Amino acid sequence: MAAEELSIQIAGIIPESIVDGPGLRAVVFFQGCPHRCPGCHNQETWDPQGGQRLLVDEVWRRLRYNPLLSGITLSGGEPLVQPEGALALARKARTVQGNVMIYTGYTWEEISRMNSPVIAELLKMTALLVDGPFLIGEKDDALPFRGSRNQRIIDVQASLGKQSPVLWAQNGGINHGLATTGE
Ligand code: SF4
Repeated sequence: MAAEELSIQIAGIIPESIVDGPGLRAVVFFQGCPHRCPGCHNQETWDPQGGQRLLVDEVWRRLRYNPLLSGITLSGGEPLVQPEGALALARKARTVQGNVMIYTGYTWEEISRMNSPVIAELLKMTALLVDGPFLIGEKDDALPFRGSRNQRIIDVQASLGKQSPVLWAQNGGINHGLATTGE
């Protein structure tokens, strides 16, 4: 499918957020989530038929990306059940020098076992990945950018290099991915 025809089922968009990752970020909440975590705050995103279907270009337009933003966050719902749409948005963000952060209910290890070329391409463009389901028994409101202690903020580029998850050092900056390869 041509990129301009690609659409995403989305639950919502926030053009500017300071709670969905480092810096000021535009956030896309994907619609549809197979994880069904007890205690989930976004249960309205579970139904894959809910929300609305928008062309990727329209999602990007509604994000109103501007130079004050650090990047985009793909949240949900579960962004990785619509990997082509997530990849298309990541490409747009990288075009304007924005970094990409993804929230997923899958663990890094589960994602690695998917062997998905689209997701592999998406990860090459992703700076940070918050992985794993929300576990209510591990809930901790004091954690930055995540809801439960089992969830990790993973430095994706370092992890791809080491082929195992490397936790993000919050004061160590953000490796955007592809920045040095002239994408
Ligand atoms: S992965 Fe996120 S959106 Fe999906 S059920 Fe769990 S907490 Fe809710």
